[in-house]
Amino acid sequence: MLTTTHLLAAVLIGLFLNLNKDEWFVALTFGVAIDLDHVLAAPRYISDNGLAAILRPSWDDGSGLPWRSLMHYPVAAFVVMPLSIGWRYFVPLLFWSTHLGIDYIQSATLAYSSPVEIVFMTACIAGIVFLVYRRWSDLRPDADFNQFVSHLNGSLRASLKGCGVSIRQFFGSI
Ligand SMILES: [Zn+2]
Repeated sequence: MLTTTHLLAAVLIGLFLNLNKDEWFVALTFGVAIDLDHVLAAPRYISDNGLAAILRPSWDDGSGLPWRSLMHYPVAAFVVMPLSIGWRYFVPLLFWSTHLGIDYIQSATLAYSSPVEIVFMTACIAGIVFLVYRRWSDLRPDADFNQFVSHLNGSLRASLKGCGVSIRQFFGSI
């Protein structure tokens, strides 16, 4: 699936488990960043199939050439499993196997991959909004969803403004 879908799924699980900073880093490495192997395979794939082929749901072009690293195959459990020992919730194994599970569902439903992906993404986003809202409203027992939306709006604007300021400062200093 799209890397954004993997990211949404990882964020949803991470929020649900209330991960700490270190756990987030490991979760995103094993749950999302393993897709970086596609970047390595991309030059060969694009020169054989054309740029538009990037959007194909599967990069298996029948050439037999690898487009995914071993991290995308169950055999990598031998690497991930030992690394998971000592982590709460076995974080590396949990997020890596979720990534593989999502990719498996996708290859099993290849013909319907866009609708499946849209439904899955929507469900993840709904879950993320629900978890963030629940956490926010726990601290403000008498606030409602409208207030939550305007709070989000406000903090989004504030962070965009913050980005704008740092970009200006950056370019001002060179
Ligand atoms: Zn993947």
